[in-house]
Amino acid sequence: MDFNCLHPTIVFQEVPQEISLCFSITGCRVGCKGCHSTELWDPKQGEPLSNQRFTHWIERYQGLISCVLFFGGEWQPKTLIEKLHIAKSYGLKTCLYSGEQHVDMAISSQLDFLKTGRWVPELGGLDSPRSNQVFRDMHTLEKLNHLFITSPSHTSIAGADNVAA
Ligand code: SF4
Repeated sequence: MDFNCLHPTIVFQEVPQEISLCFSITGCRVGCKGCHSTELWDPKQGEPLSNQRFTHWIERYQGLISCVLFFGGEWQPKTLIEKLHIAKSYGLKTCLYSGEQHVDMAISSQLDFLKTGRWVPELGGLDSPRSNQVFRDMHTLEKLNHLFITSPSHTSIAGADNVAA
């Protein structure tokens, strides 16, 4: 079964050094206190993201994007993995922003980048040195949070993370 997503957007900061086509998947069950994206809690919000529709979006932005980013969707692993396979078949990198602490290996093995950890207002997002959230290169397993903290142009990752997943 397909999950629903909001209208995709192009984002520049959520995956450092990549131009990402971002799909915000609805149906988040993490329930972070202080979530500013509660519209993502209702799985009926947005439109179904069929593989055909997903492919259409990728082809529309082919040559302009380098990465596909999902805000959520890990609660439907089979559906998400299908999309990740499609993205990779177009030579694109893949990233998932999850509010969970751990993500199924079947998913993480298909990712170039993974952000884990729920939103905790007192600790802040990836641009906070105290953050509980972790952004990792899934090939080297290196933690890349420092890229969010030191980038002078990076001003909104906490807000972005609070927008989704
Ligand atoms: S902050 Fe993200 S992971 Fe947490 S409840 Fe909101 S949408 Fe879900």
